[in-house]
Amino acid sequence: MKKISVVIPMYYEEEVANECYNRMKKNLNELSQYDYEIIFVNDGSKDKTLEILQDIAKQDKKVKIVSFSRNFGHQAAVTAGLKYITGDCGIIIDADMQDPPEVIKDMIKLWEEGNEVIYAKRKKREGETAFKLFTATMFYKVLNGLSEVEIPKDTGDFRLADRKVIDVINSLPEHNKFLRGLFSWVGFKQVPFEYERKERFAGETKYPLKKMLKLATDGIIGFSTKPLKIIGGIGFISVVISVLILIYALLNCIFSWDLIAKGWTSIMFSMTFLIGIQLISIWLVAEYISRIYDEAKGRPQYIIDKTINIE
Ligand code: UDP
Ligand code: MG
Repeated sequence: MKKISVVIPMYYEEEVANECYNRMKKNLNELSQYDYEIIFVNDGSKDKTLEILQDIAKQDKKVKIVSFSRNFGHQAAVTAGLKYITGDCGIIIDADMQDPPEVIKDMIKLWEEGNEVIYAKRKKREGETAFKLFTATMFYKVLNGLSEVEIPKDTGDFRLADRKVIDVINSLPEHNKFLRGLFSWVGFKQVPFEYERKERFAGETKYPLKKMLKLATDGIIGFSTKPLKIIGGIGFISVVISVLILIYALLNCIFSWDLIAKGWTSIMFSMTFLIGIQLISIWLVAEYISRIYDEAKGRPQYIIDKTINIE
């Protein structure tokens, strides 16, 4: 009997935990020819999430819990969950039922047809703000413009992957894993699966702007070195411009045009502009270096406080 593993990260999800479990269970039970396990990863929630999950795990041994010592973030939670998968395929899904578990059976069908990664693509996104939609579009534009691998637009982490692919992901040594990029980077036979992204069942998004920005920089910096090269391009252009300005100034002296009056503005402008570009460049380099530093320290991406129903 083949086994399906489901990984669900949870951060302050007491309002959705029960609904999530019930709906997940119902859909997995309908796939009666498969065995399954549900791995909940509690990402350091301090509300009742863990309590609720523990109650569920007491009655249902197919439910496993990995609980972090603090909040390490969604990517870390999913990464941890993937490590504990014992099934033949793994499904990553959000707790808030924005990704409907009802579509899992169709994803399984695609998997049985020989596809190794089935990534869910959002055909429609309900209940999301115009700001979120706009920033998401911009993010994928920038990311795909810069990065060497194509990261499909409108896909999150909701996907089904064959055990073979998950083993490869688990074997990658990097700490700051940007999963949707890595899943695309590893290759294998991949197909999109279109679905309608629903509204959150309850509660609020656990992805405020700050976390979104971190995810975006991790994605871009983890998958491209082009930003570093762009700095060179900007520097080159500004040198060319400054030479042109110099020529202009010399001509000014020779033909005694009225330069003095314009002097202050041009100096102030070029100074602040160039300092700005320099600082931005240094920040960009620092982003890379800080990630190299993180990797060099070799600290784990997360710390597990306890596990339940896992030997
Ligand atoms: N999540 C997490 N750790 C975090 C933030 C979010 O494990 O630090 C989980 C959250 O519980 C949910 C999933 O990641 O299961 C996606 O979060 P959310 O639905 O809030 O994001 P959105 O759908 O608004 O992008
Ligand atoms: Mg959500």
